[in-house]
Amino acid sequence: MGYYRPRPSEVKNCKYCGIPFETNHKRAIYCGSSCRTLAYNARHGHETEKAGSAKGDLNFSLQSVGTVATGAGIAAVANHLLHDEPAHRQVMAELATIRQQQVALAAKVQQLTEGQKRTSTYIDAQMSTDPKLQAAFALTVARQNLQIAQERGDVAKIEEFTRQIQAYQVKTLLFGR
Ligand SMILES: [Zn+2]
Repeated sequence: MGYYRPRPSEVKNCKYCGIPFETNHKRAIYCGSSCRTLAYNARHGHETEKAGSAKGDLNFSLQSVGTVATGAGIAAVANHLLHDEPAHRQVMAELATIRQQQVALAAKVQQLTEGQKRTSTYIDAQMSTDPKLQAAFALTVARQNLQIAQERGDVAKIEEFTRQIQAYQVKTLLFGR
């Protein structure tokens, strides 16, 4: 003659909300009655709800198309477009506007790139004809290199760049007159 022992409780993850819960019931799959109800509604109310929203929302635009995350939502919008001429025209107009903005942006980028090219060409030309500018630039580069050599503790390079700096300092002084 033995004793009854309560079935040991176990921890499961709620099939609806995913939150772990403790239960003695072998067949329990939801953490509580609210999740059981919500799961039931999700199973049985899903189709009618989806059909309703596809027809119901007339107020959408291309922006909203971009934010629709699910395939069902995109399908609903596409279906909507097929059956709604004004909405279709609105989306096409917005597409045309976006295309114009794209073209304008591309032109602006090209303009800026060309401006940048002209600037660096100008600097290169100045560098090649102006010995003072050349010496000043070389001095800056040598100073940066000396700093790197000092950080690395590279004695030979420290000497080399120190000599360069002295030479370029003399040059900038000469060309400065
Ligand atoms: Zn739950």
